Amino acid sequence: MKILVTGGLGFIGSHVVVELLNKSYDVIVVDNLSNSTIDVLEGIRTICNKKPEFEKLDLRDKLAVSDFFVRNQDINGVIHFAASKAVGESVENPLLYYENNINTLVYLLQELQKLPKSNLIFSSSCTVYGQADVLPITESAPVKPAESPYGNTKQVGEEIIADVCKVDYSLNAIALRYFNPIGSHHSGLIGELPLGTPQNLVPYITQTAIGQREQLSIFGDDYPTIDGTAVRDYIHVMDLANAHVVALERLIKHKMVVNFETFNIGTGTGSSVLEVVKTFEKATGLELNYKIVQRRDGDVTAAYADTSRANNIMGWKSKFTLQEALESAWKWQQNAIAAKES
Ligand code: UDP
Repeated sequence: MKILVTGGLGFIGSHVVVELLNKSYDVIVVDNLSNSTIDVLEGIRTICNKKPEFEKLDLRDKLAVSDFFVRNQDINGVIHFAASKAVGESVENPLLYYENNINTLVYLLQELQKLPKSNLIFSSSCTVYGQADVLPITESAPVKPAESPYGNTKQVGEEIIADVCKVDYSLNAIALRYFNPIGSHHSGLIGELPLGTPQNLVPYITQTAIGQREQLSIFGDDYPTIDGTAVRDYIHVMDLANAHVVALERLIKHKMVVNFETFNIGTGTGSSVLEVVKTFEKATGLELNYKIVQRRDGDVTAAYADTSRANNIMGWKSKFTLQEALESAWKWQQNAIAAKES
């Protein structure tokens, strides 16, 4: 079985490639290296003792995408990660996000439609729920108006796939709505590499702990939560990677009930920002320098998944604890610094 992973050198993509290679899939990665580096291939090779095929490809180049599929007619499934993901940047430059995240999806679907049969996994996000009225959040919770162009690209992306699936039964697709992916492969050889100042909590924590950042700012302690800080569902990226393999098997083995399905991928447990900080301190024995500042615009109070659908229908469940995920993030951070210094 040959699987195309777009954006396969990025944070989540690289962990999925490792899981696929370990399950003996043939993997071909395309990536435009806009938010990843070619060194990631070496990390994957060291972990798996083999490398995926790699092609530098920008999915915004429609002709190049078409040419790629002409040369690769034997693809059995596509896992589509290639997209931009910085919320703030999407507000500043919405057209970049619509081009990167929507045009590319359309080009990909146009090529998949030419194949007699195709399977697609789409990276979606819990951001589609906004502040849900009911917690934990089930897949039938209403999709709320998007807070940013980035969030909108996830909503519209799902809608585009749903519309195509309504008329094209040769396409089977699953959208995975990720909650908050954190951590790294236990080897510490691949992980999250934020460009510039991290926007996400865990990279900010690890960079502060290692001395690259002065202090973590906790955005708000006046939310109606257990300790006043906002609550999220942090999921180990290896659990998330495994969810993709399980979803892929569901597609390939024709276990789908309808040809477009959606699953929440989280742990089902909410943790506050302060709980994450305390768990990190416990995992590492370090004391983290932090201060409480104002809320960040666009942040919701609390979001955590009802994972019953993924558990019962897809047969997937998360295994790792928050502490294990934070330990792996810390290991990766230490390795990344060591690699920089050597
Ligand atoms: N957060 C924080 N300080 C930071 C980054 C994030 O307090 O430097 C908080 C943020 O307000 C949210 C949680 O951590 O409540 C998770 O934020 P992240 O950006 O990692 O993920 P999001 O849920 O926004 O996608």
